Amino acid sequence: MQLPLFISPLFLFLGFLIFTLWIPDTFPLFLLSSMTTHTKGRSGVCVWPDVRQLCIGKSLLYGFMRLFSIPLKTLRGASRSLRVDQFCSVVNLSSSLLIELVPCLEDNYAYLLHDVDTGTVGVVDPSEAEPIIDALSKKDLNLTYILNTHHHHDHTGGNAVLKERYGAKVIGSEVDKERIPGIDIYLSDGDKWMFAGHEVHIIATPGHTQGHVSFYFPGSGAIFTGDALFSLSCGKLFEGTPQQMLSSLEKIMSLPDDTSIFCGHEYTLSNSKFALSIEPKNKELQSYAAHIAHLRNKGLPTVPTTLKLEKACNPFFRIWSTEIRQKLNIAVTADDAEALAVIQRAKDNF
Ligand SMILES: [Zn+2]
Repeated sequence: MQLPLFISPLFLFLGFLIFTLWIPDTFPLFLLSSMTTHTKGRSGVCVWPDVRQLCIGKSLLYGFMRLFSIPLKTLRGASRSLRVDQFCSVVNLSSSLLIELVPCLEDNYAYLLHDVDTGTVGVVDPSEAEPIIDALSKKDLNLTYILNTHHHHDHTGGNAVLKERYGAKVIGSEVDKERIPGIDIYLSDGDKWMFAGHEVHIIATPGHTQGHVSFYFPGSGAIFTGDALFSLSCGKLFEGTPQQMLSSLEKIMSLPDDTSIFCGHEYTLSNSKFALSIEPKNKELQSYAAHIAHLRNKGLPTVPTTLKLEKACNPFFRIWSTEIRQKLNIAVTADDAEALAVIQRAKDNF
């Protein structure tokens, strides 16, 4: 019997959908969620309580795979509305970037970037060498690049040992070429750099320090923001002005809403308390804060967050909020930079 022409692609698509939804272990797309669920199910204890892995595809197949990611995201995200960023929205088995969160020091996060095609590995902001060496050794990986968002020791403390051990090249801002230990490659705002076939945009995000940069992977929809932007807050203004920080945040805000934000510290729980104190009626913030408390109770990280979530909840993205302005007595005539400065001061004194 001859089937109508449209039937076979329809079956193919339905088959793909069922396959990915019901057999998640088969796909790196669901590596994180399947690992966590299964290890908990067996032992009651998560084997990797502080480690997350995401798998994100390269830009070439980005548009194509996003087509499939929309229904998946909607269906699988429904049961965990604020955790949609826990699994990747893009996947390609033969060409992908794995991101692994590595807790360092007291509350820092470094991130391992692993291009599985070429075996190229990078690390973003290694505060210290040991946890990075451990993470690399477990997977028998070498280290090719060290990416630093800024010069502070809790983001560069591991540079020297890692460079010496693996011969890795250190990448950072040209502005910080005298301050980033072992720097080899200087980059500036607007530069594009390739990490094993993945395009990386260098976005200058000064305010916390003068040379602070963020690394944006447009094909993967991921940005590493160091101490410029945290979940529910932004970095302290050690070297910059409120206007500089405002411009930095606006650059990040202009990225797509589903961008995953990988920041330098696990500050989200304390940030949520401050955010709630100045915008208590924000319903999305209330539910995000409850979710964060739940995650932290279980020892789980709150990173990555998404730009969409931050726009809805982060007070530094919401300086226009009437409730925030009234709570902090910000003059109606105050411009955005002045308002940001008031919010910063209130947070410092919180
Ligand atoms: Zn810093």
